[in-house]
Amino acid sequence: VKLSQIGEFGLIDLIARREPKLKSTVIGIGDDAAVLKYQAPSTKGQEKYQLITTDTLVENVHFKLKQTSFFDLGYKTLAVNISDIAAMGGFPTHALVTIGLPKRVSVEQVRQLYNGINKLAGRYKIDIVGGDTIASPKAVVVSITLLGEVEKDCLLTRSRARPGDLILVTGSFGGPAALKFELGTRNLELRTQEARMIAKTHLATAMIDSSDGLVRSVLEICKASKVGARIYEDQVPIAKGATLKQALYGGEEYELVFTVNKKYLSKIMDKLSKVSVVGEIVAKGRRVKLVDSYGRMKALKSGGYEHFK
Ligand code: ADP
Ligand code: MG
Repeated sequence: VKLSQIGEFGLIDLIARREPKLKSTVIGIGDDAAVLKYQAPSTKGQEKYQLITTDTLVENVHFKLKQTSFFDLGYKTLAVNISDIAAMGGFPTHALVTIGLPKRVSVEQVRQLYNGINKLAGRYKIDIVGGDTIASPKAVVVSITLLGEVEKDCLLTRSRARPGDLILVTGSFGGPAALKFELGTRNLELRTQEARMIAKTHLATAMIDSSDGLVRSVLEICKASKVGARIYEDQVPIAKGATLKQALYGGEEYELVFTVNKKYLSKIMDKLSKVSVVGEIVAKGRRVKLVDSYGRMKALKSGGYEHFK
């Protein structure tokens, strides 16, 4: 079987069949970050989980060096990892940075890469505690593993959405797709404060970051929560210059997609700005359907970016 036949998600499903064996593994493969049991020494009785996630950017797959500075590359690689920790309701603490470099890269370029990483690490008080440095035959590769923490009662996963929940999102969608995905840090806003705020209300039932597109994110919540969903076409916040299609499938935006029971809607809206309701969770289907302004329903393709496809 070729990778192109099953795609990235099919491949991960194959790998994910291994059940965790350790009692300390709370959540293994399948969410934005893994969740492990641990007691941080400085938490004064407040029980926490450890979070851990990893993401890699590869030249000519995720970025082109013609359009992307080394600074932006470092910044973005850490940013996408922070987004996954935030989507679990937590905050980042420690990082491991692995760089694979062809010989053509200069020391100054690596310095710029680390300037980008350090800019965000400083802002979020993340310690870089290790990594690996290797030669790479052709492509520049940057991979970051990020650890974080979350108070037990603030943990938000993909798997607790329930029928009757509304689907909410921060910000707007389709912007990066409309800009042809030029990897820049100017338009990369992280929703870390919003994520912590949502987690601390204890009102949300599920959360994910929208790195693979809005529809894909809702679908991942549906799969993990064993529910279906409707997205209301005319309620999707579309970024300036983007089309509805780009907003639904584009990806590369690091917004939050989360679910809240209808009865808590006004309570959560009071606490957050720039949040919109885009749909609702329904009992059946594990599928996402799009509802147009006349109430007509269409099945959606899963969409989003998928490696190997
Ligand atoms: P995200 O876009 O939030 O980073 P991914 O779609 O990359 O999430 O991954 C989905 C889940 O699959 C995550 O839990 C991730 O850790 C896991 N995963 C991805 N690739 C592998 C792999 N090669 N081995 C084990 N788990 C993997
Ligand atoms: Mg994610």
